Amino acid sequence: MHCPYCRHADSRVIDSRTAEDGASIRRRRQCPSCGRRFTTLETSSLTVVKRSGASEPFSRDKVVAGVRKACQGRPVSDDDLALLAQQVEEAVRASGAAQIDAHEIGLAILGPLRQLDEVAYLRFASVYSSFSSLEDFEAAIATLRAEHTAARAAGEDAEPGAASSATTAPAGTASPTGAETGTGSASLGAAEEPAQAPAH
Ligand SMILES: [Zn+2]
Repeated sequence: MHCPYCRHADSRVIDSRTAEDGASIRRRRQCPSCGRRFTTLETSSLTVVKRSGASEPFSRDKVVAGVRKACQGRPVSDDDLALLAQQVEEAVRASGAAQIDAHEIGLAILGPLRQLDEVAYLRFASVYSSFSSLEDFEAAIATLRAEHTAARAAGEDAEPGAASSATTAPAGTASPTGAETGTGSASLGAAEEPAQAPAH
């Protein structure tokens, strides 16, 4: 690592510490030529392989750009998007792989985006998962409603969607107050009776 001040070809590490999340190492270095100190941040490289087969470095900015379109007109701030991109990066880095498919980034976006804004989530999921029919939307909305119902049953301020595998939600658990989201009055699944709160 050359010195950023005098371009001397070498530097000496005087301190190393791992970041709290374990994903990077910060090194304090000193130039033996000019004596000045500087810091380097070391992270493993993370390569994204696109569907075309081309690869590029992981970029939080690209995550934000991809999600921003789905968030148009929604109450989602730039800070929210930056945090989401950070969560996505942490999730994909947590796999430990140096190379990941773009598809996996899409998957990693779905969870945090659902927490952030369900309408944006549905928009993103509809493009990302190539929804091809109204039934695809209905199934996704039914899943969200089932989670709302489960969250209400588990306590008023339970986090929706936390640690869920959404696609396994049982059919026919449409919210008993299903009109509240204003997304139309289509009946979702067989809502023959109000869902019962599980006893516990
Ligand atoms: Zn120097």
